[in-house]
Amino acid sequence: MAKYKLKLNLKRCQGQFVCTAGDPDHFGKKEGEEKATLIGGEREGNIETLEIEENALEEAKVATNGCAFQAIELIDEESGELIAPEEG
Ligand code: SF4
Repeated sequence: MAKYKLKLNLKRCQGQFVCTAGDPDHFGKKEGEEKATLIGGEREGNIETLEIEENALEEAKVATNGCAFQAIELIDEESGELIAPEEG
């Protein structure tokens, strides 16, 4: 099955939590900070990443497209293609 990756840029995140509403399985609130976090994800500097399955794609798209600060990217791991946010 294809794999996808969510990437969260904590520097851009302004803590409006559209993502946690759209995809509560993958996005949570970082304790003590007005920032989102990827549940079960890995952190490197200001970037968190989480691999997700194809059946979780729709919710991840909603969260990614809903972020007004372009803090989230959804990437197809096989092709490297950016799936969301969608242009325009
Ligand atoms: S929607 Fe974007 S800015 Fe808001 S908490 Fe989620 S990642 Fe941060």
